[in-house]
Amino acid sequence: MTDPLPTGATIGILGGGQLGRMLSVAAARLGFRTHVFEPGAEPPAGHVCHQLTTAAYDDAAALQRFARGVDVVTYEFENIPTAALDILEALKPIRPGREALRISQDRLTEKTFLQDLGLNVAPFADVADAEALRAAVSKIGTPSILKTRRFGYDGKGQARLKAAEDMETAWADMADQPAILEGFVDFTHEVSVIAARSPRGDVACYDPGENVHRDGILHTTTVPARLSASHRTDAVLIAAKILNALDYVGVLGVELFVTGQGLIVNEIAPRVHNSGHWTQNGCVVDQFEQHIRAIAGWPLGDGTRYADVVMENLIGDDIDRVAGYSRQADTALHLYGKADTKPGRKMGHVNRVVK
Ligand code: AMP
Repeated sequence: MTDPLPTGATIGILGGGQLGRMLSVAAARLGFRTHVFEPGAEPPAGHVCHQLTTAAYDDAAALQRFARGVDVVTYEFENIPTAALDILEALKPIRPGREALRISQDRLTEKTFLQDLGLNVAPFADVADAEALRAAVSKIGTPSILKTRRFGYDGKGQARLKAAEDMETAWADMADQPAILEGFVDFTHEVSVIAARSPRGDVACYDPGENVHRDGILHTTTVPARLSASHRTDAVLIAAKILNALDYVGVLGVELFVTGQGLIVNEIAPRVHNSGHWTQNGCVVDQFEQHIRAIAGWPLGDGTRYADVVMENLIGDDIDRVAGYSRQADTALHLYGKADTKPGRKMGHVNRVVK
């Protein structure tokens, strides 16, 4: 697929959560149709897409039907089973491509990839079993963090080791899954860069945002982030280096720790990212439209920020504050239409535009 997708073409989206929902809305604004593939019932994206397939990722016939009916396949999460990707890729292009997924699905592969690019990452060691953890702790030391190699999100699948004595309980938390041990980074704050690359290699970066987590889940993103001019440049160069190395097409999120010794890459997400939601009210072209433009082969928007923004996630009962927010003139509401409120569930977010 080299020509730009024409208006009226169909974009297939794997995953029907809030990211798939906001991608669908952005696609519709550009005149595209979307077809969402999601195993769960009543997905947030189902309210706004043109077509919804409710099927499991091991349903080969459903995957084939889905792929035949779309022009390009994209996704809102990185943990798509490899067998499903093989079926889809035989029929339609997947953007971003398989290499970005392969690397970001596994923390050990990801850290190795980033290190080989010459980027700074936390010291790390492979932990296949309890014995390997002992060796890793003697190499990396404490404090450190043990993380499952796969399927971790929002701080899940992680255990902190304050001292070597914590080894046994930390390993028990991994439930026998392969893990990596990371040295604890003494950072002052966390930032992320949302960047995009087009099929012809153009790159556009948004201003880095400063992230605050609560209970392992993103709480707020503030732009501008507290960064020196040189760190700001470094952040953009790091993102561009990763995009180019992966011959990437679409939007990518890069999470960075800010330290006295410079920026350290924590992880990458090959998709639109929660810490990029501020772009909806701070830029002419937000991350969702940017992603659709990139995977459709359209020119990228420039992503320049025209306002200061604080994005706050509405998690669980935070949704009860919507009535108050709806009366605030500087606040844009983005609600995901989820019927059930659960602790830790992302129900929506607000963007407070500061000037
Ligand atoms: P992650 O799932 O890797 O994004 O980790 C979730 C959060 O845990 C990060 O946003 C950090 O606040 C913290 N964290 C993860 N890795 C490290 C590390 N090596 N050193 C210090 N804090 C970390």
